[in-house]
Amino acid sequence: MKIIMLGAPGAGKGTQAIMIADKYGIPHVSTGDMFRANIKNNTPLGVEAKKYMDQGQLVPDELTVKILLDRVAKDDCKNGYVLDGFPRTIPQAEVLEKALKELNDGIDFAIDVDVPDENIINRMGGRRACLKCGNTYHVEFVPPKKEGICDNCGEALVLRDDDKPETVKKRLDVYHQQTQPLIDFYNERGLLKSVDGTKPMNEVFDSIIAILGE
Ligand code: ADP
Ligand code: AMP
Repeated sequence: MKIIMLGAPGAGKGTQAIMIADKYGIPHVSTGDMFRANIKNNTPLGVEAKKYMDQGQLVPDELTVKILLDRVAKDDCKNGYVLDGFPRTIPQAEVLEKALKELNDGIDFAIDVDVPDENIINRMGGRRACLKCGNTYHVEFVPPKKEGICDNCGEALVLRDDDKPETVKKRLDVYHQQTQPLIDFYNERGLLKSVDGTKPMNEVFDSIIAILGE
């Protein structure tokens, strides 16, 4: 099963993608996590990506498409995957579609986690991220068992540089301009499913299971 998560930054794509990956036994593939791992390890890709990420802008398609296609070509992706944060532009979606078509394959579902902009700013300020395993928490809505520590791997949680309010505003603008058109792109292909992302996370997950099947 190949799934794409769509939605504004902070809509809960990562939160749901981790739960989907766990339930269906497929890898969670997040381009944002891959960039943050590169930044942490100070690789040339990380240095380049950081320039864009800190400004709330998208990393250029050439760089993003390459890391994504390399990742999904790995063995653990052969039975499917859940993509979180990719594609974010129409050209990225076209490259993915073409690469899969060459393998006689395609995406099964594009799930749009729908959350209005008003709710997003609140969520991002309270988001705490684990840069080691990619798990995400919220100080109020999804707190870790022990404050500031990842439940999954014990790493210290951080406020992401790009979750500061001025950068969040820019990321929302970029989302509306460049990423939202993907909703029509997948709708035209009959792959789009929408869920109400303002509900508590377990309710959102129940609606996703209703779409994907038990
Ligand atoms: P995205 O991957 O779309 O950027 P995240 O999954 O990181 O978003 O979620 C953004 C923030 O909102 C996180 O702090 C997360 O814990 C919190 N969150 C996720 N889903 C919900 C929900 N259904 N209700 C309230 N807060 C949520
Ligand atoms: P995320 O963790 O998905 O919120 O992504 C964090 C940041 O990484 C984004 O604001 C972009 O700067 C960059 N990024 C992640 N995925 C992509 C993508 N598919 N295309 C371009 N930039 C991306």
